[in-house]
Amino acid sequence: MKKIRNFCIIAHIDHGKSTLADRLLDYTGSVTDREKQDQLLDSMDLERERGITIKSHAIQMDYIYNGEPYVLNLIDTPGHVDFSYEVSRSIAACEGALLIVDAAQSIQAQTISNLYLALENDLEIIPVLNKVDLPSANPEEVTDDIVDLLGCKPEEVIHASGKTGFGVDKILEAVIERIPAPSGDPDSPLRALVFDSVYNSFRGVETYFRVIDGTIKKGQNIKFVATGKSYFADEVGTLKLKQHPKNEIKTGDVGYLITGIKDAREVKVGDTITDFKNPTTSVIDGFEDVKPMVFAGIYPVDTEDYEELRTSMEKLQLNDASLVFSPESSAALGFGFRCGFLGMLHMEIIQERLEREFNMTVITTVPNVSYHAFTKKYPDQIIIVNNPSDLPDPSGLDRVEEPYIKATIITKADFVGNVMSLCIEKRGQITNQTYLTTERVELSFDMPLAEIVFDFYDRLKTVSKGYASFDYHPIGMRVSKLVRVDILLNAQPVDALSALIHADNAQHIGKKMCEKLKELIPRQQFDIPIQAAIGAKIISRETVKALRKDVTAKCYGGDISRKRKLLEKQKKGKKRMRQVGNVEIPQQAFMAVLKLN
Ligand code: GDP
Ligand code: MG
Repeated sequence: MKKIRNFCIIAHIDHGKSTLADRLLDYTGSVTDREKQDQLLDSMDLERERGITIKSHAIQMDYIYNGEPYVLNLIDTPGHVDFSYEVSRSIAACEGALLIVDAAQSIQAQTISNLYLALENDLEIIPVLNKVDLPSANPEEVTDDIVDLLGCKPEEVIHASGKTGFGVDKILEAVIERIPAPSGDPDSPLRALVFDSVYNSFRGVETYFRVIDGTIKKGQNIKFVATGKSYFADEVGTLKLKQHPKNEIKTGDVGYLITGIKDAREVKVGDTITDFKNPTTSVIDGFEDVKPMVFAGIYPVDTEDYEELRTSMEKLQLNDASLVFSPESSAALGFGFRCGFLGMLHMEIIQERLEREFNMTVITTVPNVSYHAFTKKYPDQIIIVNNPSDLPDPSGLDRVEEPYIKATIITKADFVGNVMSLCIEKRGQITNQTYLTTERVELSFDMPLAEIVFDFYDRLKTVSKGYASFDYHPIGMRVSKLVRVDILLNAQPVDALSALIHADNAQHIGKKMCEKLKELIPRQQFDIPIQAAIGAKIISRETVKALRKDVTAKCYGGDISRKRKLLEKQKKGKKRMRQVGNVEIPQQAFMAVLKLN
């Protein structure tokens, strides 16, 4: 146990976490040349393509230091706010963290939020000034920033480059010298923390755990405390690039477990694994059920594909427990599903996986957050509104509450004005402003979560010329003046285009939506009126003008109707159009409300 070190790497996105992890694996000889491939820990294709880590992974390295063999478990953490709960569990499995700071970018919002998580878990922090090879690196200044932030000595900040490998030896030395060895009790009943799980279609769910006390043995009858379910440990082992089955994993160490579980929802990150017959009396605290934050409808482009979509979603859910869905129907789109996601990135990932892995073409509707509505008749009874069409009739409505977040933004002093205006436009209230240095300012806002979902990242990037970083966490529900803005095409309401909007902005946004839809909806043989309405009141109107007659193509011989059907099918697949009444609506139109600026 004295020779084990468990650590993670925390950083703001793009500060070089994955690259540095690769260098650590290289340096400790944990990968053979044949296995070498950039960003080894990012295993999903999507992760590699987007250069982000979605799921966290763990890897064990052997390293000889001062003639003594050590086992180093590196637990990787996802770098996106959508997955912050997983970050917190990975951190809880460690005794130390490498805090990576880009020598050109300095401290950013996620540097700080991840640092707080690490400090809450009493982790030993090893500051690493990364990318010192960059010509634009500013090592002295950024070291000062780090020293200010941590209250450490400048000598404690390790200068490194994931690109050249400079400083990697110093990092490993610090991991061994500064991070404490695990301190659990080998003689206590088994107590292990689940910090991740991965779905494997052949072997079922692989659970990644850190043993806090006791030992987990192959064949042992174990129990997951939160779910209350028990299983036999068919296989336990350590994780290098491949899995290495072992007879047991002891106190302090990290490993994987296979029990034949086929549904990812049975393994909850943050859960405690214990012995079935001799269970622990102290459960690892901090367990939370992950709650979806963003909801949207997913509909098949072709109504006939509904059952196939259901099967695909069920399969996806088996390996992504954070995806939730339930059937819903829309007057405009027919049968589909209301899906809950951790955030917008998660939503995009699901949509992309449905297309790539299951070959489904789907329409995704305007995403919204989850509201609480209360009627005058039952003012104490929460009605959960995950779809704007579930909002009770305004006449009987007492109040609506919406989820709020605390947003932290770090930017340059020059952009403070711009960032503040944006946040105020997004209904934010400033709660704090701190100058980290003369150049860099940290701003805190209380804001509605819904405003983050709607184009916030892009706007922030624009108003700060890219010099702003952003992080947030939920702070509960607050009463808001919300109304439902409905869209009518050809005088028919299209429920899938409705959105809940703050009353003060409804007029303006309704108008913009009409204008945007006018751009997006293709012209047809007839005029298409587009209207925005609140209840029975029309607040805006635009028209998509009819095509002139001579534009319609002539048809040539052959089995025309069949040919046309085929062509239409092809077109729908490619363009993702949906026929609603006699109007064709392209996928972008359903997202129009998100991109109004
Ligand atoms: P992550 O988001 O923290 O995992 O960051 P990545 O490891 O994916 O790195 C982000 C970008 O910075 C990539 O383009 C890397 O090639 C680059 N990068 C990472 N480390 C270094 C470094 O030490 N020096 C330089 N010049 N570039 C680096
Ligand atoms: Mg990465």
